[in-house]
Amino acid sequence: MDSINNSLNHPCFNHSVHKKLARIHLPVAPECNIQCNFCNRLYDCVNETRPGVTSKILTPKEAFHKYIEVKKNLDNISIVGFAGPGDPLANFDRVKETVNLIRKTDRQVEFCLSTNGLMLREYADNIIQTGFSYITVTINTLDSEAGAQIYEYINYKGQNYAKDTAAEILMENQLEGLEYLCKRGVICKVNTLYLKGLNDFQLEDIARVVSQKGAYIMNIKNLIPAEGSKFEKLTTASEKEINEARKKCSEYIKQMLHCRQCRADSVGLLEKDRFKEFY
Ligand code: SF4
Ligand code: SF4
Repeated sequence: MDSINNSLNHPCFNHSVHKKLARIHLPVAPECNIQCNFCNRLYDCVNETRPGVTSKILTPKEAFHKYIEVKKNLDNISIVGFAGPGDPLANFDRVKETVNLIRKTDRQVEFCLSTNGLMLREYADNIIQTGFSYITVTINTLDSEAGAQIYEYINYKGQNYAKDTAAEILMENQLEGLEYLCKRGVICKVNTLYLKGLNDFQLEDIARVVSQKGAYIMNIKNLIPAEGSKFEKLTTASEKEINEARKKCSEYIKQMLHCRQCRADSVGLLEKDRFKEFY
């Protein structure tokens, strides 16, 4: 695995490059296809980004022009990422159009997207054909009872599902999509929000299973409660609890320890977000 690590030009997947290589997130994806109980849908997707932050939605053409502008100023952009404000796979036409526009002028930069995974299996071939090298899928539980508490509903192929059924469809698509992409060489990260009392006792199971499916790295993130969401008062984990969970899970899969819980329109190094200069 470490020989893979050395070749990765993604500052989130490879800690050793995060101080020299930068990324840009292009916020072209407004819609979401599920309702997580820790999200109030007013802001950027909590699964990947920082709650309470709203990114201005761009059309694919606007996103392309923004990329060109940023590239003129930052020569160390190695990754173009899609992380909201909704779910990139609930808006895949917009995401794909943006990638195609950028690819016409830049053969070097690599593409990454973060998703709740509901449509991951469905879009897996399209994701590969479009040229994504990296995917992040958020997997918060593998248990339908816990899933029924974490997710209010999903909208899958035009139909709404709730409770255990919603959780089962979501989990199946996440794991199948993850395995399919990993087998075909896409480097996959799994984000897991530490939800105290809901999934904290399952984190090692998640780590073991996603590792078996081929995931490269896991990112256990603390919940930052989003105001107005069902979980706004959920007690969050201490730093010690998060660190202990990461240590236990590292028995199964490499852990990301340098996540900054960025915005859906972040620009620059992880440690020095320059989004304001390009807003
Ligand atoms: Fe919110 Fe993201 Fe969950 Fe959609 S997937 S409800 S945007 S946290
Ligand atoms: Fe990387 Fe974490 Fe920021 Fe996502 S939220 S781009 S994983 S540092």
